[in-house]
Amino acid sequence: MSQGGAVLTLLTVIDITAKSAASPYPYKEEVGMSTQTKNDRASWLQGPSAQCTVPPKAVGDPWRLILLGAPGVGKGTQADLLNVRLGACHLSTGDVFRAAKMQEACVLSPAMKAALEYMRRGDLVPDATVWDMVHERKGCLRCDGGFILDGFPRTLSQAASLKSLMESEGLPLTAVVNYELSVSAIVARLSGRRTCQTCKAVYHASERPPKMAGICDRCAGKLFQREDDRPESISIRLEAYDRSTAPLIAFYRKLGLLLPVAATGSPEDICARTISALTAWRARVSAR
Ligand code: AMP
Repeated sequence: MSQGGAVLTLLTVIDITAKSAASPYPYKEEVGMSTQTKNDRASWLQGPSAQCTVPPKAVGDPWRLILLGAPGVGKGTQADLLNVRLGACHLSTGDVFRAAKMQEACVLSPAMKAALEYMRRGDLVPDATVWDMVHERKGCLRCDGGFILDGFPRTLSQAASLKSLMESEGLPLTAVVNYELSVSAIVARLSGRRTCQTCKAVYHASERPPKMAGICDRCAGKLFQREDDRPESISIRLEAYDRSTAPLIAFYRKLGLLLPVAATGSPEDICARTISALTAWRARVSAR
């Protein structure tokens, strides 16, 4: 894939400017009885010149996961919950674009401005732009704490590039979790989703509302509806998913890596289901 100079220049601009964005991290996240200091993902969100404030703990056999599933299926929420349970970092390509969007338009390169326009419409950003961004951050894939990729890969071309990078780095994937949910449930989830503009916590207008309307329970930040969660963008995103991302299910099934998980119920239910599926998966793989 292309390593276009314009894209790389643009990504360097993000690295520098993103550091000035206000960050609530590190903070303590409570899940049941366990409490863990959360990594700020600086190396991922800002680029390789930034250091993570709380690098994940090195573990003997890190989880290296990809989360697949249609937009709105809850991959981001699951990645956050799995991060707390498994220690592996939540790496979302959508979050990198959203961090860029917070920057002044004048510091963005033409390539990133174009990428953000694709995103605003709900369309996929071109593969070359996305791959340049991920390749620049490949140190995060080598992290001793493991990783949970969310929103990447999204096309066969991205999946093939990732596969050859991971093979050349000697980094085996643990599994590809495919979250399954009906289209009607997906549309309901997307149209009610509200996100905190400060800490990125996710709510749902009717199913998981904040205590005070429009205000984040966690940090008192303002909640907003993502531009790409508006009805006109939702149908474009679902079409893009069917056309470009759904073929990845067969791709990873053929590689023996696909682990289907039902995305019904509360986020905590889905997380518990994912952990037990992953634990059983690992036991099966190591027994082979
Ligand atoms: P997400 O938060 O993963 O839903 O991503 C938000 C938007 O960012 C998507 O609708 C795309 O416009 C763009 N995007 C994120 N990741 C990718 C990717 N891997 N390939 C193409 N576009 C992406």
